[in-house]
Amino acid sequence: MIHFNVPPFYGDEFEYMRKAVDAHKICGDGAFTKKCNEYLEDHTGAGRVLLTTSGSSALEMSALLCSLTPGDEVILPSYTFSSTANAFVLAGARLVFVDIRPDTMNIDENKIEDAITDRTKVICVVHYAGVSCEMDVVMDIAKRHGLFVVEDAAQGVMSTYKGKSLGTIGDFGCFSFHETKNFSMGEGGAILIREQRDVERAEILREKGTNRSQFFRGQVAKYNWIDYGSSYLPSDLNAAYLWAQFQHADEMQSDRMASWNRYHEALKPLEDKGIISLPVIPQHCEHNAHMFYIKCRDLKVRTSFIGYMRENDILAVFHYVPLHSAPAGQKFGRFCGTDEYTTKESDRLVRLPLYYRLSEQDQEKVIDRTLHFFNTL
Ligand SMILES: *Cc1c(COP(=O)(O)O)cnc(C)c1O
Repeated sequence: MIHFNVPPFYGDEFEYMRKAVDAHKICGDGAFTKKCNEYLEDHTGAGRVLLTTSGSSALEMSALLCSLTPGDEVILPSYTFSSTANAFVLAGARLVFVDIRPDTMNIDENKIEDAITDRTKVICVVHYAGVSCEMDVVMDIAKRHGLFVVEDAAQGVMSTYKGKSLGTIGDFGCFSFHETKNFSMGEGGAILIREQRDVERAEILREKGTNRSQFFRGQVAKYNWIDYGSSYLPSDLNAAYLWAQFQHADEMQSDRMASWNRYHEALKPLEDKGIISLPVIPQHCEHNAHMFYIKCRDLKVRTSFIGYMRENDILAVFHYVPLHSAPAGQKFGRFCGTDEYTTKESDRLVRLPLYYRLSEQDQEKVIDRTLHFFNTL
């Protein structure tokens, strides 16, 4: 069986986890969490980075940091994971879904402005497959209308837009280190904070509403309950697992990129014949080989392709039933304008197996079966 995903594991994760145990520090904000925070600050240029318990909790922190009040509106794509939307619903906001672009599957930056009302507070973009949204346009709109920008960069760790790391362009950026992402700590994530003025509040939110972080730095004599908050900091055991992977980040990334490029090259002839579509990477975007997807002619072809692959012991999957058509999406939001591409394009999309150390042999089998299916369609 060729799995769709295998959680990333380099090999020396246990050594670092043992160090955390030996140091009697398995709770949050130990040595490994600090190392990971600093690593991410150095590699992205973010003002401040704080590891969190998940990408979802980084999104929740971001929503809270935008200080939404009930009835405020948040603009986001409908083609995304539920976590993007949940974070803002939990903060009391109404969701306004905007259509995607068919080429990158990202929010259509030219349809954002039509969705703005006097209740709009936030634009939340999702960098699908680690390929950036058109951030210059998004930031310009946000600036003109006085809106926060949250980047769901759960899939965009180590990707860039015009040389800038994803997650560092908006007010807040959110990474995920779930086992399906390029780097993992089992469950985990990080919030990237652009402005120094937001850091203290973020630290308080993350530490159960207390100023414990300042206390540990010796900035206050005793720590106190300052504001609302929750526990958004991960165990240092998980951070140790992630730290091991950061030590080998380049190697892990090039392995993934090699697989991505092999897929692209091998399946290009199908695209040239007009049988499938392949991912589009705009000129000024550097992606991170987070996922490889193809788009079939329609839902019917996709269903039979997935079935055919399964018969051949290969797991190919689709994702994101558009949120505006889901029960919670209808309850908490509305779609702005017409759904030109969201449903149509999501119905066509299917992801092929891609993970760190996918063997060339397994990949050849996936390619071979894919070519066979579409060439005999
Ligand atoms: C993975 C993912 C999340 C959630 O991350 P978790 O760490 O699983 O909570 C949010 N948004 C997108 C787009 C994702 O791909």
